[in-house]
Amino acid sequence: MTRISPVLAALLMTTAAAAGAAEVNLYTTREPGLIQPLLDAYTEKTDVAVNTIFMKDGLAERVAAEGESSPADLLMTVDAGMLADLAERGLTQPVDSAVLKDAIPAELRDPADNWFGLSMRARVLYAAADLDLDSFTYEQLADPEWKDRVCIRSGQHPYNTALFADHIVHHGEEATEAWLTGIKDNLARKPGGGDRDVAKDILGGICDIGIGNSYYVGLMRSGKGGPEQVPWGEAIDVVLPTFQDGGTQVNISGAAVARHAPNADAAIDLLEYLVSDEAQAIYAQANFEYPIKAGAEIDPIIESFGPLKIDPVPLTEIIAQRSTASQLAEKVGFDN
Ligand code: FE
Repeated sequence: MTRISPVLAALLMTTAAAAGAAEVNLYTTREPGLIQPLLDAYTEKTDVAVNTIFMKDGLAERVAAEGESSPADLLMTVDAGMLADLAERGLTQPVDSAVLKDAIPAELRDPADNWFGLSMRARVLYAAADLDLDSFTYEQLADPEWKDRVCIRSGQHPYNTALFADHIVHHGEEATEAWLTGIKDNLARKPGGGDRDVAKDILGGICDIGIGNSYYVGLMRSGKGGPEQVPWGEAIDVVLPTFQDGGTQVNISGAAVARHAPNADAAIDLLEYLVSDEAQAIYAQANFEYPIKAGAEIDPIIESFGPLKIDPVPLTEIIAQRSTASQLAEKVGFDN
């Protein structure tokens, strides 16, 4: 792949804009390195320039502040809750696209068509390799069998809030409070750190099982997360847990067309490209995520976890239970 300098890139964009050539402005919280190969492939195919503005935080605030004169066409971010927040703030517009609806399962996009999942991450079980577990339910995290054996990050982190919220949808508030209390009783250490610390602490003998996101296993085992993380990734087996009456909890990375997009048609075209087989393979492999589209190629490390049975609860129902989930974690003193 040819690399061009930022100065040359800026010059080319200006020239393209001056010539009235098609372009699309992408605001993204995703690491530029992860999505650039995709955008390059799109530009090569269509001659449409994609101007990327990366911001780690404050995407919604910026688009809101820019108002009607915002140049943003497509807004890309991680977490269904973030996407729903953009829509709730009136910063998005609905897109009626058969291409998107065919490619993306209904539970992984907005029923009002404001946002769309583009790839998935699963909340999985990291287990000490010598345990040889071949199945697990999220409910089992609270079993006394696991007393002093569980590691997990903060109960207030959005990844866990979404998992706890999904439990509320399945079992109700009261049962979720009891479940959280049970998990708390099973903790080997105070909740904290990141998901990768769970694997590190399993290697260190501090805990036997824990919860983490699927893509971190790819980052650790491949060495892309740093050479020190390879043994962490190799110390664990991954089990795709399910709810007793459901499947594995997933979250998405996704995108929405901005309310005042100056190039809305181009933004929709790019969005549709992102769910093509070609783009899905590039996107998911660069990130170690699951493609959103059934049948698209999966990274071999992620594929080795076995078939993913997605929990059927729509993301919007999980989003609706987020604050209750956070309050319950607070109430049981999960992080104390
Ligand atoms: Fe993460």
